[in-house]
Amino acid sequence: MKSNAVIAIHGGAGTILRTSMSAQAEAQYHAALHDVLLAGQRILADGGHALDAVTEAVRLLEDCPLFNAGRGSVFTADATHELDASIMDGRTLEAGAVCCVKRLRNPVLAARRVLECSEHVLFTGEGAEAFAAAQGLALVDPDYFHTDARYRQWQLAHDRQQTMLDHDGASRASLPADAAAVAVAVAVAADAQEPTPQEPLDPNRKFGTVGAVALDAQGHLAAAASTGGITYKQPGRVGDTPLIGAGCYANDATCAVAATGAGEMFMRMVAAYDVSAQMAYRGATLEAAANDVVMNQLLRIDGRGGLIAVDREGNVALPFNTEGMYRGYARVGETCITDIYR
Ligand code: ASP
Repeated sequence: MKSNAVIAIHGGAGTILRTSMSAQAEAQYHAALHDVLLAGQRILADGGHALDAVTEAVRLLEDCPLFNAGRGSVFTADATHELDASIMDGRTLEAGAVCCVKRLRNPVLAARRVLECSEHVLFTGEGAEAFAAAQGLALVDPDYFHTDARYRQWQLAHDRQQTMLDHDGASRASLPADAAAVAVAVAVAADAQEPTPQEPLDPNRKFGTVGAVALDAQGHLAAAASTGGITYKQPGRVGDTPLIGAGCYANDATCAVAATGAGEMFMRMVAAYDVSAQMAYRGATLEAAANDVVMNQLLRIDGRGGLIAVDREGNVALPFNTEGMYRGYARVGETCITDIYR
């Protein structure tokens, strides 16, 4: 019997700067996506579960410093790291998530333990770390998450923020209250800067979650997502990534979805669940539902980003409304496909 098993992944969406991209940087991203897809594809080819395939894919993406999740996460306004992750099993509708964690090497593994070993769905901060430690997961020194590239982004954002405050004569207390406003401020500020020559996507305007969705040979779906959030976010700010239904959703009856973009808009649109709901309630195809959410619903409130989705027949949709999204998919027995641009 031919298997429809497939895995799709993303490494964030955002503004593209073709001119600033070196062939070497582009090759690095393709190679990283390819390696992660191969690992997920192998699990599915061996008859493994979709839940295991997405867990492993996101764990590998977290360990890769190219992407904004795990090691490589962006800095908060206080130059710290606060990480979020979630996972959902389409077979049982069980889910697990952690948010605002500072010392968990692999937040997706903690989310998976929440799914499997707890009656709850979401743990935050120190409670999440204590839960994960009790489950035997690795805690790391917060320095583990420091990368020079992300720190340069923080410095740029910080300098611009100070300049704006000096200019307005405003106090730090009047910083924009929501992270989306901060991100926009940083993005606008970044327009005045020279692009970093190494990055295909402008790092200051890039949304950088990682995610994976999969269908296994038994017909089960799963989704997982992980992020460092948005550069210069206010400490304590949480986006869509750890929220089931907003940044992550899976239901065997419909589809599995993982999102990336301006988290506040994905929360307000309950974006991941909306793809599933459109399939369930109005009989939309995966492609029609995913496109409607990304190209119509989210854009109504200027929600920039994209998502990856797979349905129970093995159809794959990877829509985004930004110039680029690191992405790829791999069917069992076929070559891995990776892409960056529109
Ligand atoms: N959605 C994530 C957040 O708002 C960021 C991203 O996808 O890049 O935290």
